[in-house]
Formats: sequence, C-alpha cells, structure tokens
Amino acid sequence: MPIKLSKRRQLSLLVSFLALALISINIANLSRAQQRATTPAPVGGSVNDYDLVIKNARIVDGTGNPWFIADIAVKDKRIARIGRIDAASAARTIDAQGLTVAPGFIDVHAHVEGIYNQPDAENFVRMGVTSLVTGNCGNSTTDVAQFLGRIKDRPLAVNIGTLVAHGSVRGKVLGLEDRAPSSEEMQRMEALVEQAMRDGALGLSTGLIYVPGTYAKTDEIVALARVAARFGGLYATHMRDEGSEVMDAIRESIQIGEQANLPVEISHFKISSRKLWGRSTDTLGLVRDARKRGLQVTVDQYAYT
Ligand SMILES: [Zn+2]
Repeated sequence: MPIKLSKRRQLSLLVSFLALALISINIANLSRAQQRATTPAPVGGSVNDYDLVIKNARIVDGTGNPWFIADIAVKDKRIARIGRIDAASAARTIDAQGLTVAPGFIDVHAHVEGIYNQPDAENFVRMGVTSLVTGNCGNSTTDVAQFLGRIKDRPLAVNIGTLVAHGSVRGKVLGLEDRAPSSEEMQRMEALVEQAMRDGALGLSTGLIYVPGTYAKTDEIVALARVAARFGGLYATHMRDEGSEVMDAIRESIQIGEQANLPVEISHFKISSRKLWGRSTDTLGLVRDARKRGLQVTVDQYAYT
C-alpha cells in the first residue's frame, strides 16, 4: 500500500534530504562535535566563523541516541560545532525548524557497477544515501582493485564499496556450464575471491536463483565463503528460492554462514509465493533461531506497493 505523506511532510522530507546532501554528516565527526556542544554559544560571532549554520535541526545522529534539537555549524565541509550557534556566525544559514538532519544513509543493496558513468549519483544523494554497497545478487566486477581504483580518476559523490560475486567468479572460470567445478577450477575460483578480498571486497555475494549461480551446490558456496571469512568478509545472498521453497533457501543461507563461519545477510527478504503469505513468522523464526545459536544473520527488505 502506498505510504501517503502530506505535502508538508513531503517537503519536510525533501528539505531534510537536501540538507543531508549538502553537509554529508560523518557519524564520527558528529559525536565528537556533540561532545563540544556543551560549551556555551559564542556571543557576537562573525560571518567568517563558519561557512554554513543549520538552525533548529532535529538531529538523529545514527548512534541510536534519541533525537535532540540543536544548530549545526559547517566549516571547510566538516561539522565544526553542534549546539546553540549564532546565525550571524556564517554567511549562509538554513532554518531546519521541524526538519530532521541525520548522517547519510548507507544502501547495502545496490547494483551500481556502472556508477562511474554517473558520478553525481544524484538519485541516491537526493534520497539522503551517501554510501553504497554494490556487487549484490551474484553479479560484480571480478577485478575489485581496478573497480575501486577508478575513484582516483573519477571521484564520486558517494562512498562506494563492493562485494565479490559468486556468479561472476564462476562465470569467469566455468562459463555458463551446469556442472560441478573440478578441483582445479575450484582452486581458481577461490583464488579470484581471495584476490578480491585482498583488494578490499566486503564479502561474497550469491545469486542462487540466477544463471550461473544456480548451478552451484551448497558446498561450492561454503568453500568460497570460507575464503571471504578469512578476510573478515560477510556472505550476502539472493537466495535460491523466494517462493514455495523459501524455508529451504533460508536454511541453506544459514548453513553456509555456520559452516564457513561468517555473518550472513539475506537480501530482499520476502515470500513471493501467494500460498505462503502470512508465514513470515516461520521464515523470520529460522533467522531468530540462528541468531540464538550465535550466527550473525541479518536481512534487508524493500517495500512493494
Ligand atoms: Zn537480488
């Protein structure tokens, strides 16, 4: 069902996102600045003190703290101060009365292999997203060093991270063949994952519903996930099934995490089969049980309308 927002609320959200885009708050800076915010406001500040002052912001600092109302001063693109700040201490002020200011959001499930063609990432920035993780669902670059290295020549408006994807790695070694890898092919896949992790990949992704990922049995994924685990990576999965076999698919995801000993992130968690609608207590129950056993397993979800 579409979420209905009043015009005022829409405007309020838009302005808060724009404010986000303008200042791109860094959480660490925010909490450091917050500590300094206890000092009294300067009296008779000069317009040169700061570049920008955001007045009357409802600040959600991203640490889990309750919101608080304060002003934010920005100097040289960094948060210089949070507290009561004289509007006259900067040439530019934004009145954020009734609006929320928060650190940039992190979108952990992006498919932006082509982001260097659109370095402004305007659609993300306008939604308040300032960090992206790409390489999801089994499809990524297989040369992480080259992919991340491009940022030196082509700066992006957002932070970017990538997973290394099983489907792409398998495709490079076995093409689209529907068979198990030989031990030599398995070693080549492991070497590709290892190099990607050394080059900065955040973990391994799979798309077990897609070709060629779907040709892999669980043990193949476990072996590659073990490589990612050695480098502190996580396992993110577009599961083998999101419909009538979803329970088995969740069990497989959890099994991979437990056998390879790494955190599991189940992508776009849902039940797509109408027959199983209403059974999310069962699907989430599998996740809760795994967490009780000590496996760090999380899910993300998008909203259908
Ligand atoms: Zn997916």
